[in-house]
Amino acid sequence: MNIIIFGPQGSGKGTQTEILSNKFNIPHISTGVIFREHIKKQTKLGKKIASIINNGDLVPGEIIDPIIRKRLQRSDVKNGFILDGYPRDPAQAKYLNSITSLNYALEIWISDKTSLKRISNRRSCPKCGDVYHLVSRAPKNNNICDHCNTELIIRDDDQPKAIKQRLKIYHTRTEPLIEYYKNKKIFYQISGEKSIAQVTDEILKIIK
Ligand code: AMP
Repeated sequence: MNIIIFGPQGSGKGTQTEILSNKFNIPHISTGVIFREHIKKQTKLGKKIASIINNGDLVPGEIIDPIIRKRLQRSDVKNGFILDGYPRDPAQAKYLNSITSLNYALEIWISDKTSLKRISNRRSCPKCGDVYHLVSRAPKNNNICDHCNTELIIRDDDQPKAIKQRLKIYHTRTEPLIEYYKNKKIFYQISGEKSIAQVTDEILKIIK
């Protein structure tokens, strides 16, 4: 089962992807996670993309497309995968279509207002990457990661200015994926304004 999942920042796609990945035992491939690892390790690629990501802009297709191609060649995707964060625009969608086929394209939709509110409560662990929400998933100890005791931060790309830019890009560049996948008859939209469990239930009604 090959799935892509997309949605505005803070829609909960990372959370849902993790749940589905465990349930169906297929790998969760997140381009945001891949890029943040590179930035953290200060690899050559990491240094090249850090300012793009921190400003909330998109990394060029010629960088991300080959990374995805290589990732989808690994043996762990033989029973399927869930791609979170890729494709991000129709050009990437066309590229993906040239290297694999998909069963479902899911959009978890939330309003800009909800997105901004949720992201302002987001805190991330700079060491292990765990993500918290001050209201719905607060750390046990104030501002400290439950797993590795590191002080939590607001990611640069979660700062209000970057979020506004990311939302703008979502509407202009990523939303056209809806038409693209509607034409392929694999598009499903789910409201992300509900609880995590309700959103999962909605997705499971679609994915069989
Ligand atoms: P995410 O965690 O998926 O929101 O990704 C964080 C950031 O990584 C995005 O704001 C982009 O700067 C970059 N990024 C992630 N996936 C892609 C992609 N498919 N194409 C271009 N840039 C991406």
